Amino acid sequence: MRQDCDVLVLGGGPGGSTLASCLAMKNLSAIVLERETFPRFHIGESLLPCSCEVFHKIGVQDVLEDRFLRKYGARFLCSTTRRTASYTFAEAFNTRFDHAYQVPRADFDHILLKHAAGLGADVRERWEAIEVMFEGERAVGVRARNLDEPEKVVELRSRVVVDATGRDTLLASRSRRKAKIARLDKTAFFTHYKNTFREEGTREGNIQIVVWQHGWFWFIPFRGDVTSVGAVASAEWIREQRRTGAKEPGDFFDRAVADSCWATEFLQNAERQRNVGSIADFSYRIDQLAGDSWLFVGDAAGFLDPLFSTGAHLAVKSADLAANAIAEALARGDTSRAAFANYEKSVRYAVDLFLGVVQAFYKGEFRETLFEANQRQTLRRIITSVLSGDVFHEGVGPQPHWASFLVKQYPAELPSFA
Ligand SMILES: Cc1cc2nc3c(=O)[nH]c(=O)nc-3n(C[C@H](O)[C@H](O)[C@H](O)COP(=O)(O)OP(=O)(O)OC[C@H]3O[C@@H](n4cnc5c(N)ncnc54)[C@H](O)[C@@H]3O)c2cc1C
Repeated sequence: MRQDCDVLVLGGGPGGSTLASCLAMKNLSAIVLERETFPRFHIGESLLPCSCEVFHKIGVQDVLEDRFLRKYGARFLCSTTRRTASYTFAEAFNTRFDHAYQVPRADFDHILLKHAAGLGADVRERWEAIEVMFEGERAVGVRARNLDEPEKVVELRSRVVVDATGRDTLLASRSRRKAKIARLDKTAFFTHYKNTFREEGTREGNIQIVVWQHGWFWFIPFRGDVTSVGAVASAEWIREQRRTGAKEPGDFFDRAVADSCWATEFLQNAERQRNVGSIADFSYRIDQLAGDSWLFVGDAAGFLDPLFSTGAHLAVKSADLAANAIAEALARGDTSRAAFANYEKSVRYAVDLFLGVVQAFYKGEFRETLFEANQRQTLRRIITSVLSGDVFHEGVGPQPHWASFLVKQYPAELPSFA
């Protein structure tokens, strides 16, 4: 049977491009199909330090260092009590990386995609994956088209197919079960501003997470004077605003800002740079992350509320793990679902660790812990470790004590697929 490459990677976001780089470094051939022409806008601009391990590995860290503002930590601000709490990544248990980056995604995603091409991946922009082809249960390739010749559908064949199409979840939407996650039925409204408030010195790049009665805001400062600002709100609040006349995303965003003392202060002298966009009800879980000759990577494998800026980290780290699993499976000549069982376990463990803490935040218990005055040093280090993205333990080594504590304290409430 003709094979066009070892691995077909559907989607060229951080998940797909990182996977393609990792595969190229293992001398495996990959074709990346990306529907858009890069650079293109994308939401998700605050990174976590633990992703730097992957950026180092694929050799892109120096470029990121050159281009983007360093993020040394996170500050939480409560709009009801005006309490604040700062966390600095250097206080985490694993201090190999004490900073991450704040990245306009158009640039960041473009850098990663060009990097994959530079390492030898066959990157095809304006190529749309239409459907994954199967022989029995086994994925064997994809039907796709070049958007410059949309009437001409071609079949590409590979030994493994990876769906990294992000929230489009190309394969899962058609062949798997997707479930909503308890407490995470939120909507986000977002835009960019010039001249919002910023901390000074090394704290300039910290993400500011402003908690307000009905949700929270992110303030993600970029190098220069532009800051990404988003408001995440509960479904009840949205319904109430709609009932009282809010229609456009900008209406909801402005009402949320007016409801928070900190957001109002931060935006006092700021100028909006783009229309307010929105994404509704964004969290979901998928029943299975891999099967015979196929895997899901990044958002295609599920999405968790962005409270702790976890999405890009889960995408690049799952890409790294997927590349290892695929290389081993191909070397053994066994790409059945069983060959990817450890991949699925590692990703699930990491997502669920974050998920339990995020759900506890919305219940209120973890929110109190975040703002607690006179916190125990160990607790600070645990929180900081989660904020820095130190969640990939399963299949890597023993689970650290602090992570076992966290899982017990804040178990994830998982949806049922029955
Ligand atoms: C409101 C909100 C705020 C967020 N904030 C953060 C944050 O601060 N930090 C963070 O780390 N994450 C954040 N995220 C999450 C982050 O955006 C994602 O987790 C991340 O982009 C996942 O990367 P990915 O490569 O899996 O998917 P994507 O980045 O979405 O890439 C998927 C790619 O696949 C392409 N594609 C889709 N369908 C097809 C097709 N059929 N054929 C070919 N190509 C296709 C798309 O064009 C896209 O380029 C946020 C998410 C939301 C909703």
